[in-house]
Amino acid sequence: MSQVQEPTVTQQDWTQRYTGAVMNTFGTPQRVLVHGVGAQVTDADGKVYTDLLAGIAVNCLGHAHPAVVSAVSEQLSTLGHVSNIFTSPAQVRLAEELAGIVFPTRAAEETRVFLANSGAEANEAAFKIARRHGGSARPRVLALEQSFHGRTMGALALTHKAAYREPFEPLPGGVHFVPAGDVEALAEAMGPDVAALVIEPVQGEAGVREIPEGYLQAARELTSAAGALLIVDEVQTGMGRSGEWMAHHLLAPGVVPDVVTLAKGLGGGVPIGAVVATGQAAALLQPGQHGTTFGGNPVACAAALAVIDTIRSQDLLTRVRELGDRWAAELSTLDGVSEVRGRGLLRGVGLVDAVGPAGEIASQLLEAGFIVNAPRPHTLRLAPPFVLSDAQADSFTKTLGQVLAGRLTQAGAA
Ligand SMILES: *Cc1c(COP(=O)(O)O)cnc(C)c1O
Repeated sequence: MSQVQEPTVTQQDWTQRYTGAVMNTFGTPQRVLVHGVGAQVTDADGKVYTDLLAGIAVNCLGHAHPAVVSAVSEQLSTLGHVSNIFTSPAQVRLAEELAGIVFPTRAAEETRVFLANSGAEANEAAFKIARRHGGSARPRVLALEQSFHGRTMGALALTHKAAYREPFEPLPGGVHFVPAGDVEALAEAMGPDVAALVIEPVQGEAGVREIPEGYLQAARELTSAAGALLIVDEVQTGMGRSGEWMAHHLLAPGVVPDVVTLAKGLGGGVPIGAVVATGQAAALLQPGQHGTTFGGNPVACAAALAVIDTIRSQDLLTRVRELGDRWAAELSTLDGVSEVRGRGLLRGVGLVDAVGPAGEIASQLLEAGFIVNAPRPHTLRLAPPFVLSDAQADSFTKTLGQVLAGRLTQAGAA
């Protein structure tokens, strides 16, 4: 609990103060949240919610997980920040861990890690690696339609959605979009002037759309043949969310990218991003070519180490696979659900037209005590903490069934 109690400040008061103080980039916040534990959060009016979004695929161990709390507290009371003129045991340990987790089949000496503070920053660094690869002889970078890679200028240049990009043009040039999953179109676009291809194994913002089977394999073959780098953005899908450490391990076993980017779940709620590169890509950034003051911050690294340790010691990858599969099967039987996409605990629940806009359904679910979001007009996204209980998942299934049934009845009566 915070020491400064403001018991009379209601959610409405906070929201009004938010609007008067915070830049309007996100619209009005849906709720003012004041504390959380496990998969539950409580708002400023005392209402409790089951959090099935986890800060958008961030709080993989839930809220206030004791392992993260104690690792962060201990690190902060020992050594909080050092800058990149120095290093710390936490940074070195995390880099070693990530090399093994992301590239389990590569020798440690082939892999190098750059630590950043967010997903966009990780992709920004990956973009700079791509620019360093081939220089002016390889001016093009390929990205997929419906992609989302973040909001900084470089990451935005790789992001497909026109509404996000156009207000900020000119963006870094040379990016060419190809339809996701179309191997022929990729082969056509690929060539000796391409520095890199950037892929999300499951496109989260696109409504949790898995890249079709065989595409990552083809992407690896085509990039290798053209001498281009394969960059896999695992910012949302990585760190166990798919049921494997990396979604590309699950979707395309044997495919080894050159560069993988991470953030979201990596710090279990503490801001951190990482670029993990292997082979020649690991050595393209030279001293002085890239940096960030906070990158490798010991507190953030300690949080990530606690996340990794907890996922391993509690066998949470198995839990994510088992709960994810069972839950998806059950959700897909509900009237009003057209399909359930995704893997593990990253799921897109596709809705039939008759139930109406997903955004309205997300609001109804919020009223009923469940946090989800609607990345697309007919899709709900579920990205709960890995510690979600069977009872919590089942309770959501039941409530969603009731909400959809109510809307179908209304639609039938209209
Ligand atoms: C969220 C996300 C990003 C951006 O991460 P930020 O931490 O918000 O900058 C990049 N790529 C993917 C796939 C994401 O889901």
